[in-house]
Amino acid sequence: MSADRAKGIILIGAPGSGKGTQAKKLKEQLGYAHISTGDLLRAAVKAGTELGVKAKGFMDEGQLVPDDLMIALLEEELAGPAASQGFLLDGFPRTMPQAQALDASVTIDKVVDIQVPFELIEERITGRRMSPSGHVYHVKYSPPQADGVCDKTGEALYQRSDDTPQKVQARLGKFDSETRPVIAHYQGKGVVVGVDGVGDPDEIFTRIMAVL
Ligand code: ADP
Repeated sequence: MSADRAKGIILIGAPGSGKGTQAKKLKEQLGYAHISTGDLLRAAVKAGTELGVKAKGFMDEGQLVPDDLMIALLEEELAGPAASQGFLLDGFPRTMPQAQALDASVTIDKVVDIQVPFELIEERITGRRMSPSGHVYHVKYSPPQADGVCDKTGEALYQRSDDTPQKVQARLGKFDSETRPVIAHYQGKGVVVGVDGVGDPDEIFTRIMAVL
């Protein structure tokens, strides 16, 4: 491995395991590019791009967006500043074909597997509220000061269309069938570190920094 090559880190875990929250903290600490496929897709849906139109139905149902679309999206992102800066992948790869495409174009140094029992996930996800500018709240664990309003921007908070109990079950099913094999694939390469994802976000961040 060359010393000056940009580092590639994957944050992997079930939906609601806290990948996005931790990725934002790691980005601040390490100065890496944060590539969140969920955020990129939601932005594409909002902007009504061709990708957004194709992806919307899958996302609304808690299903995965087809691999060819996801791989093309990632390749575009990796061609940008991420390649020289170091990058944190959040939400990709989620399937074996995605992992194989990724391995063909970049080297992954570490895969941080954020582990949260499924029993805790539904409450985490269904209580999640988003601000249009990207701040994330939870009605019980990290509520905004004023009900339904972002502390930072004053915007009205909303709930993601896939954050309902039924969609959460579909997403967890996909995690089991499609994403667990990806974790096993990187375990075979010896780059996976498991981190307990239960607890306070700052505590979990300390655990992640300790293993990176
Ligand atoms: P979460 O990790 O909470 O499920 P994300 O914001 O990462 O949510 O993703 C939201 C949705 O976007 C997924 O349920 C899926 O429909 C789609 N998506 C995101 N990343 C991928 C990917 N790598 N492959 C296929 N679909 C994806």
